[in-house]
Parts: sequence; structure tokens; C-alpha cells
Amino acid sequence: MTDLPPANTLDRLTMEGGFTLEELVNRATLVELCAGVAELFSVPLRLFNGSGALVVDTHPSPRLHQYFGTQSGGRRILRDIVESVKALNPTSGMAISAVCPSSSRFLVAPVIYDTRRLARCVLGPFVPSELEQVPPALFQIDPGLEAGRLTELWRELPRMTDANANACVRHLTKTLELVLFSGHRALLASNMHLASTQESYRELEEKNANLSLAYERLKELDRLKSNFLATVSHELRTPLTSIIGYSEMLSAGIAGELTTEQLDFVNTIHEKGEQLLELIKGLLDLTKLESGTLNVRMSEVDMTALLEDVVATLTPTARRKEVELTASSEPGLLPVWGDAPRLRQVFVNLTENAVKFTPAGGSVRLTAAVVMELLEDDEDGPAVVLKGLKRPMVEVRVADTGIGIPPEERNKVFDAFYQVDSSSTREAGGTGLGLSIVRRLVDSHSGLVWIEGNQPNGTVFCVKLPCKKGSFSG
Ligand code: ADP
Repeated sequence: MTDLPPANTLDRLTMEGGFTLEELVNRATLVELCAGVAELFSVPLRLFNGSGALVVDTHPSPRLHQYFGTQSGGRRILRDIVESVKALNPTSGMAISAVCPSSSRFLVAPVIYDTRRLARCVLGPFVPSELEQVPPALFQIDPGLEAGRLTELWRELPRMTDANANACVRHLTKTLELVLFSGHRALLASNMHLASTQESYRELEEKNANLSLAYERLKELDRLKSNFLATVSHELRTPLTSIIGYSEMLSAGIAGELTTEQLDFVNTIHEKGEQLLELIKGLLDLTKLESGTLNVRMSEVDMTALLEDVVATLTPTARRKEVELTASSEPGLLPVWGDAPRLRQVFVNLTENAVKFTPAGGSVRLTAAVVMELLEDDEDGPAVVLKGLKRPMVEVRVADTGIGIPPEERNKVFDAFYQVDSSSTREAGGTGLGLSIVRRLVDSHSGLVWIEGNQPNGTVFCVKLPCKKGSFSG
């Protein structure tokens, strides 16, 4: 069941709290409507709102009334007319004002909508059509008012039968009711729309606040996780170094000659200890990279020499696996701006993986070339982008002919501990940390790393690294 909005909201939406004439219909529509009716029946019309303020007045006051205004007796009559019309405030039907010395009248009717009296319309002055002679009382208003002029102006007053006056007012009030109805409907619809927009906005704000809270909590958890990993790894490393050291001493026979079986056991302890140490070093690197505490010392790095060194280091492993491993760089390769040991770590990780996931008879090729990259970096200002300036980057590609990485996995493999296929990965060994360290290291060099497929099979890991700043070309 949906919750109902609070009572005051419902009142506001349905306007149970009341509404005024001008809230439902705009003034221009009221003026146009009244002017149309007044013109049709050739009689003045006035419309007052619920609080008695004049909203529409179709005609200036008749010239006879203006003439009355020139003498005190006439002014008194005008006051009486206004008072008598004001006093007429029928709650239903119509009322006709008391006859004035000119025999002119006003017809007053309420405009009722939804049981509320929203306005009052006043029709007149008009003289009953059947009256042909000037009423004698007109000449007794004030001796200062000239009979000829009074007669002339009296004849200008609009003429109308009471029946027509009734029909005119009925027509106007009915039309007004219809207009008020559609105005009310439009107002309700727009109120509903406004309320639903406000509600959506409120919900959105609430969701936003919850999201930021969840984000803050996640950040805090991530920080705690990194701290925990850093502490645990650090605490594990010291005893592990002892285990490795003592197993080395045992296998060297420092504590006495070992039997072949004992030597086997000790060597296994040593080998597993080394594996564990690698994992712990990886974890420590990752936590340092995540917290931004890993020191990078930037200098010009010769990538040709670096890649040759990586190949030399991993050639024994590749030979054991019968995988061909080569490196080639384009002549005159520009140096990269980076931290040599960290970049070495990047390409050792990538090449180790490439060899690991390539079956015997396959190959792993490291190539490096300069590519020109359009400058987007806003630290050099927008003008650089506008001028279409480019800067050189070194692109290194580590291409293997191995098992490949499906396109949908290519982003995920950079997550810590993610391994594509657990069974084949387990066969190959590994911790799932290598690529997440690679991505973070490349990021810390303002570089890019991505994966492409090799043809007909295998994977290409591409790394783009910036050359020293200032080596721009147009
Ligand atoms: P690890 O190699 O220790 O498992 P990595 O983070 O280095 O961890 O790699 C994550 C996963 O990405 C690997 O387990 C493997 O599934 C996949 N992968 C990485 N390099 C390659 C490659 N050259 N060819 C095929 N799969 C790869």
C-alpha cells in the first residue's frame, strides 16, 4: 500500500484550503470574456473578485454620471447609486439595484464555483427599454444640472429589458463557471506535477545522500583493508625472511650433512618461502601504490636497454618452456620519463605472464616505438589543445601467441586477485596481483595500459609512456 501524503499536502494539492478567482483564471481571459459579453449586449459590465476588488471594467462611467459629478446634488445621487449596488450581494440568483432618479438600474449576480462565491458581476447602468420619457425625478436632482443636457445624456444610456439583462448575466456566469472549471483543472494538474517533481527531487536527494554515505563507508573500508594488508604483510615478511635464511643454511649443510630426503624437504620449504615472499612484496607494493606512498624517482629511461635487460632476465624461464623471447626497438627511440626500477617491474610482470600463458613452440615479442599523441592535458592550458600540439610517447607492445584473453575479461584482469580461468591459472600459478600493480605503476607515470588480441591467437599488452616534458612538436 502506498503512503498517503500528509493532510496539509493534500489540501495544498487539491486546493481544499481555498482558491481565488485570479488563481484559477488569468486577468486577460476575464477581461476578454466580459468585454465580449458587454459588446454583445451593448451594456457595461464590471467584475469584482471575492474580496471586493474590481477586476474587470468594460466601459468608462456614462457621460450622464460624469455630468452628475459636476454638482453636489448629482454627487450625492452617485454616492447613493454606489452604496445601493454595493449593498447588493446575493448569494444565489440575481438582484436589481434600487431605481435611481434616472430610472437606470444595475443587475448584480454572484459567480459561484464549487459552492464558493468567487466573484460578483455587475451589469449596468441600463434603462428599461420600455421607458421612453425622461423620468421627471431626473430634473430635481440639482438645480445646477441643466434639463436639456440631462435629457441628451439620459438618451445615451444603454437600453435593455429586464429579461435580456437576466439572460446576459446568466450567460456570463455560466461561461465563467466553465472557464473556472478548466482553470481549476489546469491548476490542479500543475500542482500535482509540481508536487511529483518535488517528490522525485526529494527522493533523488535522499538517494544521493545515501550514496555518498555508502561511498564514504567504502572508502573507509578500503583504507582499513589497505592498512590491514600493509601491517600483515610487513609482519609476515620478517619471520619469512628468517625461514628462507635458515632453510638456505640448512641446505648449504651449515648445520650438518642432510640426507637426500631431508635436503628435498628443506629445498621445498625454501622454494615455497620464496613464493610467499613474492606475494607479500606484491601486496606491500599494491598497498603503497593505493595509498600513494610508493616513491617514484623520475629520470630519463632508455627503453631499449630496459627491454633487453627484461628479456635477458626471463630468457632462462622462456627456454625452459620452449618459448621464443625477443625484444626490438625502433632506432633512435626517445627516452621515457620514469622510474627505471618500477618500469622494469612493469615489463617483467607483463613478459613473465606472456611466457607463462604461451605454450611450447610459441613466441613472446617485445617491441618499442615512438608515437605522437595529441595533447589533451589541461595542465598545459586549453590553448595547447586548440593548437593541435602533439607530444611523443613511447609505445611498448608485449605480444604473445598464447591462450589469449577474451575481450570481456580485458578490463577485469587489472583488478587485484582476478584471474581469468581458475583452472588454467592454477596450472600456471600466480597470485592475481601482477596486473593490478602494472596498471597502478603505469598510472603513476601518467601512462596508459590496455590489452589487444594478437592474430591469429594470443594477447598484446600495450603500454604508452610519456617522454620527457617539453619534447613537443606542432
Ligand atoms: P597472475 O599472473 O599472478 O595470475 P596477473 O594479475 O598478472 O596475475 O594476471 C591476472 C590474470 O590475467 C592471469 O591470471 C591470467 O588469467 C590473465 N593474463 C595475464 N596475462 C596474460 C597473458 N599474456 N595471456 C593470457 N592471460 C593472461
